[in-house]
Amino acid sequence: MPQPNSKEEQRVHLNRLKEAVDADQLLTLLGFDISRSNSTEVRAACKLHGGTNKSSFRMNKETKNWVCFSQSCQEKIGYDVISLIRHVLNLSFPDAVKYLENITGINVNDEAAYLEYKREKDRRNFIQHRQDNRQVPMSLVTEDYLKSFRKFRSNFFEQEKNGGFSAEVLDEFEIGGGYVDKYGFQRDVIPIRDDGAVLRAYSCRDITGAADEDFKYLLTKHFDKNKVLYNLHRAKNYMGNSRTLIVVEGFKSVWKMYMAGYKNVVSCMGSKITEGQQALLYKHAFKIILFLDGDAAGLKGTLKALKEMKNKIKIVPVFFPYKDKDPADLKILEFIEFDNIFRRA
Ligand SMILES: [Zn+2]
Repeated sequence: MPQPNSKEEQRVHLNRLKEAVDADQLLTLLGFDISRSNSTEVRAACKLHGGTNKSSFRMNKETKNWVCFSQSCQEKIGYDVISLIRHVLNLSFPDAVKYLENITGINVNDEAAYLEYKREKDRRNFIQHRQDNRQVPMSLVTEDYLKSFRKFRSNFFEQEKNGGFSAEVLDEFEIGGGYVDKYGFQRDVIPIRDDGAVLRAYSCRDITGAADEDFKYLLTKHFDKNKVLYNLHRAKNYMGNSRTLIVVEGFKSVWKMYMAGYKNVVSCMGSKITEGQQALLYKHAFKIILFLDGDAAGLKGTLKALKEMKNKIKIVPVFFPYKDKDPADLKILEFIEFDNIFRRA
């Protein structure tokens, strides 16, 4: 590896290193107990003076400069990240730089690798920033707003390529529309209720096709899906004597199975069944049938759930037979092959 020779090259090299290092990772390695991390800074108790205030130490995520608000430790040690590493690990300047190189795992002297790293990082930041901005505000989550959204539902979900759902089914699931996100994309509105039927959030589906893949569905800001299984408030009335619930990943899978006559279906809104969702299943059901998507994430989620829920509830995995598809992609008639597993209501 060529070493930087001029002062200017050294400066550029060092700035790239500082930029590349992940603040959370670095502080964890240095033994800080992180209390909070957002897109601009990391907060922790200051281990330099051994303080207990959980947010006295703050590191800027861009520059990696830091400050201690309780004891101004930076005045003794130096506010930059190299000085911090030198102090905590008792290293020389060159060794502190080497330490940083090792944990970032990128060779900042390799121009092409560095540019690729930088492009990927900018893309991540861009998406993160838009995610912050684009979430649906909680203030819209009221029965009154839902009523007005319902008047504006588009025919998006009725289209064959989007599932071919009947208007009756979309009515049953209270699907609305007319939400326009901050970027001007129109969205249909899926209300999410908890097991007591209280309205908790919306998931809003882009109907223009213009939002990119990561933003097809937008969730309400601050909604904690850990405590909710979609459709449980309806499904729990159809569990039968065996108290069986079928767990799928997505909203549309719930609707499609409803159309096929299966009404005891809930969605975990992802490929993982969270701890809170597991608790809800234990509370309501004696038996669950896992029917996650036919992709790698679905398989992983199924295996994880089997492990975590073993011996706590009767659990039957059904591996979705069509690769990279999910229950929402099936035609109603195709559900016949599952009739020996699922019971229609
Ligand atoms: Zn301090």
